[in-house]
Amino acid sequence: MDRVESARARIAVGGIQHETNTFAPLKATLADFEQADAWPGLTTGPALLEAVKGINLPAAGFIDEARSLGHELVPLLWCSAQPSAHVTRDAFEFIVQGLLARLAQARSLDAVYLDLHGAMVAEHIEDADGEVLARVRKLIGPGVLLVASLDFHANVSARMVEQADGLVSFRSYPHVDMADTGARTARLLDRMLRTGSRLASAWHGFEFLTGIPSQCSFIEPCRGIYRLLGELEQRHDAVLSFTPGFPMADFDECGMAVFGYGGEAREVAGAVEALRASIADSERDFALELYAPDDAVARAKQRGEPGAPVVLADTQDNPGAGGNGDTTGLLAALVQQRAHEATLGLLIDAQSAERAHQAGQGARLAFTLGGRSGIVGDGPFAGEFTVERLGDGRFTCSGPMFKGFRMNLGPMALLRSRAAPGVRVALATRKCQAADQEMLRHLGVEPRRERILALKSSVHFRADFEPIAREVLVVKAPGPALADPAEFRWTKLRKGVRLRPLGPVYQG
Ligand SMILES: [Zn+2]
Repeated sequence: MDRVESARARIAVGGIQHETNTFAPLKATLADFEQADAWPGLTTGPALLEAVKGINLPAAGFIDEARSLGHELVPLLWCSAQPSAHVTRDAFEFIVQGLLARLAQARSLDAVYLDLHGAMVAEHIEDADGEVLARVRKLIGPGVLLVASLDFHANVSARMVEQADGLVSFRSYPHVDMADTGARTARLLDRMLRTGSRLASAWHGFEFLTGIPSQCSFIEPCRGIYRLLGELEQRHDAVLSFTPGFPMADFDECGMAVFGYGGEAREVAGAVEALRASIADSERDFALELYAPDDAVARAKQRGEPGAPVVLADTQDNPGAGGNGDTTGLLAALVQQRAHEATLGLLIDAQSAERAHQAGQGARLAFTLGGRSGIVGDGPFAGEFTVERLGDGRFTCSGPMFKGFRMNLGPMALLRSRAAPGVRVALATRKCQAADQEMLRHLGVEPRRERILALKSSVHFRADFEPIAREVLVVKAPGPALADPAEFRWTKLRKGVRLRPLGPVYQG
């Protein structure tokens, strides 16, 4: 590679984001990537720059920072789909070929930036992010720099590290720092462009998995680990990442990793090793208390009050981890215990939302809610409800993580249970994790005034809801996004991995 003499380099920008829970009920098709949901739909060419503008997305942060550093951008293709089971072969090949075709047409490039998640599994390729990086590398050759930003939940493979000149992950879960991570990636790339040389790197994997509720960076041990990461970056002049991983992707290299880049190989290796040792020492601290639905509701009824609601995280049906957002275990517990001023959301049920819209506001009728994902121990919840409020699903989020996201969740409705009039259910048509207060305000629910908020989310809700919550209880109701990775039927993981902190060892 050549040093870029003027400040101006030509950088191609692309992205494919998918977090694959190989145990989840539904695969991601091309239509899922084309459709806008919480995030923009599949976008190509100059429209890409507008589509992500002002949103807390890595590509948006990269674009702003690279431009302010004086670089010229060549937008290729960007898309994402909600977390689910495998990306279909057709979707993966169509998207990647579209990206490569545009890349092949771009001339005189100095670098390529990709906005990747890092935990994508396709039907025919297990390390799908490694494959994307390898195909891009093959096309651009060794002379052009290749960097990528990654999600906190990336399962970083050896191939990904080998193919890229720089990988930078989020360091916050909730992911309030997605755009910041894109900007950090731009600065790392800029450093290489200006010096004309690649940076030294180091990488380590871990031999234990952690459940996602205990990965939250607002609580220990991750809070302390990321504080140390920041200190080590200063001390060793390195750019470091710790990815706790996505423990629902059944492939050989699933798991946590630390990696970093810097000018001096010894310094980077030292920083990565210090971080690795600290994480290894924290293994037992990754354990987390989980509540059965009945116990959680009983406690929340006692402790929640308007102004200080108790938040119940329905973690195992988190649409952000491959759930369909339609399980009913926690709803049944709320109704059965006749909770007061309790709202559950978002229950993703297009049929029921449409039925509510047809019946109209104020109508009273029987519904059979959710429970259609074939989850063992779960089924539809039948009951009489009043249609209290309708919404078109279009609104803009305001919380720290989703700020500026333009939601388009399809018809939404707020139902009130006739059997337990203190319980309301917020329905949406399109899958989305309940992580922003606007999702409830859109249906006239002011979250702060409730006693109990039951949210289909694992951790992201904490950014916007923890500040108003008396406490947060993580609930284990039936769902596909198991809080304890040891409960999955692994078949492809490498042997010797502990399936939870200090837990049973996978024998193959
Ligand atoms: Zn994530």
